[in-house]
Amino acid sequence: TSSDASSLLDYGRNVTNGLGRITEGIITSGKGSYVEYADGRKMLDFTTGIGVTGLGHCHPKVSKAAADQCMNIVHVQCSIAFHEPYLKLIKKLLPIMPDPSLDSFFFWNSGSEAVEAALKLARTVTGRQNIICMQGLLFLCSPSSFCAYHGRTFGAMAVTRSKTIYSKGFAPLMPGVFTIPFPFWHQLGQTPDTPESDLVSQCLYQLDLLLTQQTAPADTAAIILEPVLGEGGYVAAPAAFLEGLRAVCDKHGILLIADEVQSGFSRTGKFFAIEYSGVRPDIMIIAKGLANGFPLSGVITRKELTDKLTPGSMGGTYAGNAVACAAACAVVDAMHEENILENVNARSTELFKALNAIKAAHPKHILDVRGQGLMVAVEFASSASPGAKHDAVAAQVGAAMASRVAKKCIERGMLILTTSVYEVVRFIPPLNISAADLTKGTEIFRDAVEEVVR
Ligand code: PMP
Repeated sequence: TSSDASSLLDYGRNVTNGLGRITEGIITSGKGSYVEYADGRKMLDFTTGIGVTGLGHCHPKVSKAAADQCMNIVHVQCSIAFHEPYLKLIKKLLPIMPDPSLDSFFFWNSGSEAVEAALKLARTVTGRQNIICMQGLLFLCSPSSFCAYHGRTFGAMAVTRSKTIYSKGFAPLMPGVFTIPFPFWHQLGQTPDTPESDLVSQCLYQLDLLLTQQTAPADTAAIILEPVLGEGGYVAAPAAFLEGLRAVCDKHGILLIADEVQSGFSRTGKFFAIEYSGVRPDIMIIAKGLANGFPLSGVITRKELTDKLTPGSMGGTYAGNAVACAAACAVVDAMHEENILENVNARSTELFKALNAIKAAHPKHILDVRGQGLMVAVEFASSASPGAKHDAVAAQVGAAMASRVAKKCIERGMLILTTSVYEVVRFIPPLNISAADLTKGTEIFRDAVEEVVR
């Protein structure tokens, strides 16, 4: 019961301090777009467990598929035998791949673990060591740095550039990591009016320089990026940038890794965000929305590449768990049957309209509304005048404001997160959210903004 749950709260002090939390209390249940706390609070959930429960909490088909699988077999270790949900999931994923060349799958538990596997794969199949990831030009940009996030394990942490909190005190990290800037005006010390093509060509020029001055193509295994920066601030990569990266990779035999952990599974209005560009990744990493809350991730690449792996060189005790795979099969089915993409695109239009209206009402405080589909961020600023350069002072004031707005939303009954050194409030509601609940969420946000700027 709820009072039993509340009596457990005392044990909170025995939980490691290494974890942070945005609310107090215990969540005891969740249904659709809402979660309930032991003390009776019911909250609208615009966090979806950081972009995981896209089909809402306890989606009946997903929960049933998992429960049924629990009565069949829970664990088949991947080096003992295949299990049915593993192969069934491949059968369901093949037709939705952004490119038919992506035909070889291996499943893991978390996004970070899949990133590690992708990096190991890239190194071993190319026989090269170095990895290029996305970072700002630190001498030019604000401390906000719209940069890569790929996870917290050692390799993933080494290619993560979004905040030092993830790496401080944990070094030495994996060596052989190089960086290029991500095409966003903040990053390059530019203004919001700078044409995208200029930003893209600056970044591709940096890549060219990097391959000439610091890591020779013959030493460079892969370029890894998120098609929409997630933890780094919800910035979609321009198609021209992805096309440019593809051309460089093709020229030099470098592998292009698309980390779709957060942007995949309909979050951006297409099954995968990379589809907006039509660019073919050599390796794609998936997780989060894939199994709607069950721990499951995957690395997908070309069979021709994984044929080079020695059997037994990859794997893990729980990798590709049967219950998680069964849940993921139900997720893919539900995405088709329930026209999830249609809902994402319809709600996305409404969300942008509502947020842009709030921006228009607060031009001094809201700098930017951006993102794709239902992966949308609002960035705050101290004094956003059109054409203003983004500097460190503006970033800090904006960050404090985003943080205060998020807290006010929570007080008003909506769970919502900030990201990117807390300059942006991010909207990642369920993909099947109703128009009414979306409106409720944007009204809570509007009221919170008004309270903070008052
Ligand atoms: N890549 C991206 C793009 C992510 O957003 C995340 C998680 N926020 C990860 C990797 C790491 O995934 P996990 O937390 O499951 O290890």
